[in-house]
Amino acid sequence: MDCLFCKIAEGTIPSKRVFENDSVLVFHDIQPAAPTHVLLIPKKHIASMNDAEGDDFALIGELHRVAQQVARDLGIADSGYRLINNCGRNGEQTVHHLHYHLLGGTRLGALVG
Ligand code: C5P
Repeated sequence: MDCLFCKIAEGTIPSKRVFENDSVLVFHDIQPAAPTHVLLIPKKHIASMNDAEGDDFALIGELHRVAQQVARDLGIADSGYRLINNCGRNGEQTVHHLHYHLLGGTRLGALVG
């Protein structure tokens, strides 16, 4: 399958890895939008949040668990962070492999509220 994040997960495209286990990979975004900006992906190809089904939701729970752990490991947990999933055209999703952005290290500004 011609998917950039599948290739990053396989290691055929290099990335700056932060954390990895059997089901999840975390690596630095190549165009950081904050002092800390990493991407969390499932190793399984899921095109977007719209495409998640069945056991994928346990995997999405695991992505959240890993996000909490990585935020602590990167030293951004106490000051706070943002965990974002972009889905589809209106969500400005550009890579069609489900992922979360974990952003921190500065005040990020209010998006809503
Ligand atoms: O949510 P969205 O699909 O827009 O995010 C994709 C992210 O993947 C971007 O922040 C982009 O900088 C990142 N990216 C990357 N490495 C690549 C290609 C894209 O970190 N080789």
